[in-house]
Amino acid sequence: MSVFADSDLNNIEPYVPGEQLNDKKYIKLNTNENPFYASERAVERINKGLLSGLNRYSDPESRGLNSAIAAYYGVEPENVLATNGSDEALAFAFMAYCKGGVCFPDVTYGFYEVLSGLFKCKAQIIPLGGDFTVNPKDYFNSKKTVALANPNAQTGIALPVTEIEEIIKNNPENVVIIDQAYADFGEGNAIPLIKKYKNLLVINTFSKSRSLAGARIGYAIGDCALIEDLKKIKNSFHPYNVNSVSAALAVAAIEDEEYFLNSVKSVVTGRKRLTEGLIKSGFEVLPSSANFVLAKSCRIGGEELYKRLKDKGILVRHFSAERICDYIRITVGSDYETDRLLETINQIMETV
Ligand SMILES: *Cc1c(COP(=O)(O)O)cnc(C)c1O
Repeated sequence: MSVFADSDLNNIEPYVPGEQLNDKKYIKLNTNENPFYASERAVERINKGLLSGLNRYSDPESRGLNSAIAAYYGVEPENVLATNGSDEALAFAFMAYCKGGVCFPDVTYGFYEVLSGLFKCKAQIIPLGGDFTVNPKDYFNSKKTVALANPNAQTGIALPVTEIEEIIKNNPENVVIIDQAYADFGEGNAIPLIKKYKNLLVINTFSKSRSLAGARIGYAIGDCALIEDLKKIKNSFHPYNVNSVSAALAVAAIEDEEYFLNSVKSVVTGRKRLTEGLIKSGFEVLPSSANFVLAKSCRIGGEELYKRLKDKGILVRHFSAERICDYIRITVGSDYETDRLLETINQIMETV
């Protein structure tokens, strides 16, 4: 830290992203990206006309993108705010609703704790059940903002939308944030509930299911009063938060529904292949509705396995948090990548 920094900076624990290494070629299964490229039709949209317009600012209202997202989900553009990745939507929501307190599970997306620290929100950490599931009743009448990823991050386990609705219903005085980064790989989608509940804010991203992690596009969907709150923050922080190239890519990705459905289907099939392969090799695998699985073997520790895989050119994610330190988190890759991973794991298991 420099001598000039505010003393507050000392207390901030930043997020630690998964490794993005380029010292050699890795099979990269550590940050839940999509193994398939973005829709070619979407990429072809980035034409000279668009690029030569880069001397102008992007639309601060992101009208085209907000309307496309709204139409896709059957809501109004006033119910949508496009953001620079969903991490930005989460940051706006924490700024707007969490200073008075926020609760989230002990095992979940690490950013919730980071944002709580950054914005000085009082965080109540609620342990997941022994089987790593969220118990909805733990969140009833919480008197603070609820932040849940569904499917949950790190575990991949999803709550049915009916149970999410119970949590929303039983928190009439505070906002419930549902982070749906992985929802396209499962069945549940809480977005239709925004018409019924004024306290529901759904946050979603183009990074995982739409193969656009590098374009940084996310969004919040909720009652227009909630979206007004977030816009107020956005316009006080970064009015041109979504760049025009990424917005055009995102609109075109929405238009290529066939490609989206096919690539989601391939990931879901790949998840089954990965899960079955791991079980065959003696692993315990949590039931995932996402594009990754959390798995452990009683024969080798999570960190050791992570390191051995890395030595052999395969990146997976290991978390040192106590409840999940025996596990590794593996992103669903292409069939080729999954086969190499399983092969390599089997080689490693022969030596332990
Ligand atoms: C990946 C992820 C995000 C962040 O996505 P971006 O849109 O790339 O910022 C948010 N929430 C969860 C649970 C995630 O796994």
